[in-house]
Amino acid sequence: MNIHEYQAKRLLKSFGVPVPPGNVAHSASEAGDIASALPEGRVVVKAQIHAGGRGAGRFVGHPACGGVSVVTSATEAESAACDMLDRVLVTRQTGPEGRLVRKLYVEACCAIARELYFSILIDRTRQRVAIVASQDGGMEIEEVAARTPDRVLSLDIHPAQGLGAYQARDLAVALGLKNRQIGKFAAFMCSAFDAFVQLDASLIEINPLVITTGGDLIALDAKMSFDDNALFRHPELEELREENEEDPREQEAARFGLSYIGLDGTIGCMVNGAGLAMATMDIIRDHGEAPANFLDVGGGASRERVTAAFRILLADPRVEGVLVNIFGGIMKCDIIAEAVVAACRDIALNKPLVVRLAGTNVDDGRKILEESGLNVIAADDLDDAARKIVAAVRGKRQG
Ligand code: ADP
Ligand code: MG
Repeated sequence: MNIHEYQAKRLLKSFGVPVPPGNVAHSASEAGDIASALPEGRVVVKAQIHAGGRGAGRFVGHPACGGVSVVTSATEAESAACDMLDRVLVTRQTGPEGRLVRKLYVEACCAIARELYFSILIDRTRQRVAIVASQDGGMEIEEVAARTPDRVLSLDIHPAQGLGAYQARDLAVALGLKNRQIGKFAAFMCSAFDAFVQLDASLIEINPLVITTGGDLIALDAKMSFDDNALFRHPELEELREENEEDPREQEAARFGLSYIGLDGTIGCMVNGAGLAMATMDIIRDHGEAPANFLDVGGGASRERVTAAFRILLADPRVEGVLVNIFGGIMKCDIIAEAVVAACRDIALNKPLVVRLAGTNVDDGRKILEESGLNVIAADDLDDAARKIVAAVRGKRQG
């Protein structure tokens, strides 16, 4: 689960991470009120969406305006808020469709001397929590890593020993910090690490972490993601969920307890077992098309759940064809076949459907599909299934 910048800053502040004073606004007049209540000086109005790159982003139909605006008075804050609210912001991370801005964060402007990059994440290859930092903050870290990899520093944290203050000080020195800034950075890093561990986060990214002209260290941006599997331990975080920012296909799937991830391709996939689902996605790509989703219907799914899964697949306008790939073990092929037939009838399926069934009750499953009268293309194995669905989708595209 991802949260907004303003929510991440509140959480991090409660762990002792220094952030500028600010507040969230839902309307232009509220933005003006918050700006007048802030300490004297310039104010920054920031669009709140679950995507970065806002500063360089542009609003649809209003290209003069970006998602981060520095203003000098409450009246200007109000008018910047008018420019942003209820408009669609397109950034490098939103894709061309952009995101509708419903909330703003209004905070005090900092006088920046240096912008650093700092993040804490899970390094799955090393099976450790890793800390990544760079002197080149403010920009995309991927670009820095590609052009000047030696300027991206990283270290991992031993799970039993935790973060040592010496590691934080070493990193501060490697980032070129001096004197009192070293202690400030070490304190910041320990607070951020505490927040990461205690909140079961999967990512904390502060870009930029700035040194102000006055020598203070402040988190100017904050992105946090949490491990969905640990959210049951944090009801206070679950309350921060912003349904508007989530993929509607994934929300619907979550209501049925389905393991579903929306993707950009055109082939809807219904598979049992996460490994088989990954292999199915790979083989679709090998044949030159892309999957519209990851979906593992699992072993013990009920007929209702499988039918719901199939409906979600078919309701996705990206989907031009569906590949069902079931290796029946605990999940029986006849249950899948019945669900496929029920959902196809409900929706009056007019897209190509390839079904590959193998394993428990496979003959019953095939019989159900054959007798259904539906136009199902049967496949013998995974490769055959991928080839057939790609050919069918391309054939249909060409009319
Ligand atoms: P994004 O990463 O989505 O573009 P940021 O919060 O990182 O959004 O803001 C973009 C840039 O705007 C920052 O790199 C920083 O230079 C500037 N900025 C953001 N917040 C402030 C602030 N409170 N004071 C001064 N500058 C800011
Ligand atoms: Mg940023």
